[in-house]
Amino acid sequence: MTALPLSDYPSAPSKPLAVLQSVFGYDRFRGPQAEIVTHVVAGGDALVLMPTGGGKSLCYQIPALVRDGCGIVVSPLIALIQDQVAALTEAGVAAAGLHSGQEPGEQREILRALADGRLDLLYIAPERIQTPSFLEAADHARLALFAIDEAHCVSQWGHDFRPDYRALTLLHERWPWVPRIALTATADPPTRDDIIRQLKLEAARQFVMSFDRPNITYRVIAKKDPRRQLLGFIKDEHAGDAGIIYCSTRKRVDETAAWLKDQGIPALPYHAGLDAGVREAHQTRFLREEGIVMVATIAFGMGIDKPNVRFVAHLDLPKSIEAYYQETGRAGRDGLPATAWMAYGLQDVAMHRQRLEASTAPDDHKRREKAKLDAMLAYCETAECRRTFLLRQLGEALPEPCGNCDICHEPVETWEATEAARKAMSAIYRTGQRFGAEHLIAVLRGERTDKVAEHGHDRLKTFGVGSDLSKDAWRSVFRQLLALGLITADPEAFGGLCLTDAARPVLVDAEPLHLRRDPAPRAERRAAPTG
Ligand code: ADP
Ligand code: ZN
Repeated sequence: MTALPLSDYPSAPSKPLAVLQSVFGYDRFRGPQAEIVTHVVAGGDALVLMPTGGGKSLCYQIPALVRDGCGIVVSPLIALIQDQVAALTEAGVAAAGLHSGQEPGEQREILRALADGRLDLLYIAPERIQTPSFLEAADHARLALFAIDEAHCVSQWGHDFRPDYRALTLLHERWPWVPRIALTATADPPTRDDIIRQLKLEAARQFVMSFDRPNITYRVIAKKDPRRQLLGFIKDEHAGDAGIIYCSTRKRVDETAAWLKDQGIPALPYHAGLDAGVREAHQTRFLREEGIVMVATIAFGMGIDKPNVRFVAHLDLPKSIEAYYQETGRAGRDGLPATAWMAYGLQDVAMHRQRLEASTAPDDHKRREKAKLDAMLAYCETAECRRTFLLRQLGEALPEPCGNCDICHEPVETWEATEAARKAMSAIYRTGQRFGAEHLIAVLRGERTDKVAEHGHDRLKTFGVGSDLSKDAWRSVFRQLLALGLITADPEAFGGLCLTDAARPVLVDAEPLHLRRDPAPRAERRAAPTG
């Protein structure tokens, strides 16, 4: 098969707009869509980096309809494929999906439609690409383009690596004349470079849309009693609103959803351990009803297109900035004010550090994970505008502080914490580097708990030297020392804290250390006398 000369393609400039209006019912293109569509219609390769909700789908759907032949769309999730195919079919487009959840007979029929030129768009799961039946049918078909959705899945830097995506170089090798468009909402520079390398898109034109979501307010609070803090946040600021609450474990999802429900919040759980039927019912209710709060693991969210999600809350620390940005990006797609709220505490840091230390993964993988975690911790502990920080991680510069995050609203104070840090570290050292923060705090504050008595820690020099600081203040110190990497959680000692080499300058050379002061919770601030 040979490529058609470009002039044979009906690509008059007005055609894409006509398709946008007649098929999709929209008046005009949004942002860079028109430029991308024109480029792909003309046969160019493209890499599109656009935030969630930016309107990526039309960037390949319209060229597929305008160009001759069928557009092949690689998509990682069956649910996403089904949703898109249903919406397109409804709009009168000849669309189909091909995935492993179908009967062989159905698959054969779809491939016959492809070979016979009866399809405009075929969505396909990555693992189907290499099957002989697909390759043969595609050889017989006229192909309009290849779209590779969620292209970050090809990269181990991304948070959602799928080995099947690596095989997608085959598209380019077998059908080099067919234009390719790769799309993702994960834009940090290492992932971006990796996508280009893995998919051999060096010659593709890049379309990078600003990732800023100015309508989202970012806020991070120190975790104390997370459920109560969450409930307060919802009641104060988002009563009756739809929202998503992310937790790291299924157990925590179930418990949190049940507890919120008892408190009168219409919360539903969602995680991979639930029955497929239950998951689907909960997702449908979330999409159709007003004001449902979905409590979920990260299994929930990809491809969810609900414009009026008013808040995304994290009760546990996400693994990376990219994951965090993608998850929070599900709030406020309609452009109206929304909140990204996160409670973050000592346990989160210790838990992640311990998980990393204990991991048996290859070294370079561990290094990558550690770099991601460090960036995430730095975000939590930053004294800089949160949006500036986030966008910089995604390779984008914000000219000035955003005015719409907790730090901009209320700049953080720092304090000279050298003395406190040294006390904390000597408590770790003198107790043998194997105890958790709560016990160390008891030692520092001179509390004669059973555990203190059992280990004779009331006889230590450090016993009671930290009675000037509250428990919360000490938790904040330990949390920040962990985040800074001066101390770490030892997996051999069940997460007991120990010193790292980085502790030396502070402990021995008395290098000054400034820590941030945790802002008082809102309720306490409100109760505080004014004037
Ligand atoms: P993404 O895949 O980037 O997350 P989608 O393609 O799902 O985004 O689009 C997000 C929403 O924006 C959808 O509801 C879509 O119908 C809508 N949309 C996209 N482009 C336009 C447009 N040009 N005009 C109006 N609405 C649009
Ligand atoms: Zn800001």
